[in-house]
Amino acid sequence: MAAPIVVIGAGQAAASFVSRYAALGGTQSVLLIGEESHPPYQRPPLSKKYLLGELERERLFIRPPEWYREQAIGLRFDTRVDAIDRAQSRVITQGGESIDYDKLLLCTGSSARRLPEAIGGGLGGVYTLRTIADIDHMAPEFQAGRRLLIVGGGYIGLEAAAVARQLGLEVTLLEVADRILQRVAAARTSAYFRALHQAHGVTLRESTRLSRLLDSDGRVCGAELDSGDTVEADLVLVGIGGSPNTGLAEAAGLDCDDGILVDACCRTSDPNIYAAGDCCRFERGGHRVRLESVQNAADQGDLVARRLAGEDTRYTAIPWFWSDQYDCKLQIVGLNQGYDEAVIRPGSSDSSLSVWYYRGDELLAIDAMNEPRSYAFGRKILESGKHPPKQVVTDPATDLKSLAMG
Ligand SMILES: Cc1cc2nc3c(=O)[nH]c(=O)nc-3n(C[C@H](O)[C@H](O)[C@H](O)COP(=O)(O)OP(=O)(O)OC[C@H]3O[C@@H](n4cnc5c(N)ncnc54)[C@H](O)[C@@H]3O)c2cc1C
Repeated sequence: MAAPIVVIGAGQAAASFVSRYAALGGTQSVLLIGEESHPPYQRPPLSKKYLLGELERERLFIRPPEWYREQAIGLRFDTRVDAIDRAQSRVITQGGESIDYDKLLLCTGSSARRLPEAIGGGLGGVYTLRTIADIDHMAPEFQAGRRLLIVGGGYIGLEAAAVARQLGLEVTLLEVADRILQRVAAARTSAYFRALHQAHGVTLRESTRLSRLLDSDGRVCGAELDSGDTVEADLVLVGIGGSPNTGLAEAAGLDCDDGILVDACCRTSDPNIYAAGDCCRFERGGHRVRLESVQNAADQGDLVARRLAGEDTRYTAIPWFWSDQYDCKLQIVGLNQGYDEAVIRPGSSDSSLSVWYYRGDELLAIDAMNEPRSYAFGRKILESGKHPPKQVVTDPATDLKSLAMG
C-alpha cells in the first residue's frame, strides 16, 4: 500500500488541511497524529466561553470524531512524534513506532512560554493557557473572591482577566512593558483596553516586572515585584506569549528561524515536507512573518491541501484576528508591522472606535473595537489595495461603504 500523507499535530491547521483535502476528493490516504487526547479543536473559546463555563467541551471540536472515520482519515490521539527520518521518509513516535510517509505536513503549533522554575514557575497554582487540559486543571480554581495574578498583558492574559472578573475573582495583571498590548497594538488600542479593564475592577500594573513568585509549602501565595512590592495571590496565570514548536523540524535539519521556514506555498527546505500554522514563518511582501491566529492556521492548512490535490496556489490571504473581552469585540485586519502612524476614527458609540495603521500613505491594518463596519469595510479597502488618505478615514462623516465600494 502506498505511504500516506502524514500530518503531525492535530490542531486548527491540520483540521483545515483534512477538510479541504477531503472536499477536493484528494486520492491519497491521510494520517493525522496528535499528542493531545482530542480530535482537532478550536482554542479561542478556551480563554473565553469555555473558561467561563458557558460552552461544552464537544462544541470545541472542529469536526465530530465520526467525521474522520467517514472520510477514512486516520486519526491517532495521545501519540507524540519524536523524530523525522527524512532519508527513509518516515516518522518515529514516542512509543517507537515507525510510520512511512509520502508527504509530511508539520502542524505542530506553538507552546505557551512558562516562567522559569528558579522564580517559582513550577509551584502549584501556577498555570498557562493553551489546551483543554490546561483549562480543565485551572477552571475549578476560578472561584469568586479568590485572588488571581496574571503575568502578561497580551490578548490571552486580558481575555482571562475579563472571564475572571465576570466570575467574581479579584484580578491583578502585571505587564513589564509600559503598556498592555505594546507588542501588537498602537497606544490608543492599549488605552482602550486599559480603561475597559479598569472599569471592570482589574488592577493593572504596567512597567512592572515580576521578580519571583512566593512559595507557601509548594504552592504559590503571591509575587514579589522588582519595585520591592509584593502582591498576594491564590493562583497565577502566565500569559507571556508562545514559542513555535520547531524541535522536530530542527532535529531533522529543516531550515528554522523562530519558526519553520516556508515559502509562499508552505514548502519547507525539504520538497516533501510542508508546514502550516503557528509553527511556521512564511514569506509575505518580502518579509518573513509568523502568525498565531486561526485565520492563518486555517488558510495555510487549506493551501497545502489544494497544492497536494494538484492546484497551483500561493498564500496571499490578508490576516485577520479577533478578541472578546467583556462586551467588547475587537476585530483586527491586516498587519501593522512597520507602521509609523496610527490614526483614530471615532465610533458610533462611546465604547467603539477604530485605529487605522499607516506606513507613510500606505494603509496597513485596522483595529476595530465594537466597530464591525470599520472592520468589514476596512477589510474590503485593504483587499482592494486602496490607501485612503488619513484625513478621510478619520472624518466621521466619511461613508466607509462608499470608500470601500467606490
Ligand atoms: C487560549 C487561546 C486563545 C486564542 N484566541 C484566539 C482568537 O481569539 N483569535 C485567533 O485568531 N486566534 C486565537 N488563538 C490562536 C489560535 O488558536 C492558534 O493560532 C491556532 O490554534 C494555531 O493552529 P495550529 O494548527 O498551528 O496549532 P494548534 O492548534 O496549537 O495545534 C498544534 C497541535 O500539534 C500538537 N503537537 C505538537 N508537536 C507534536 C508532536 N511532536 N507530535 C504530535 N503532536 C504534536 C500540539 O499538541 C497541538 O495539539 C488563541 C490561542 C489560544 C491558546
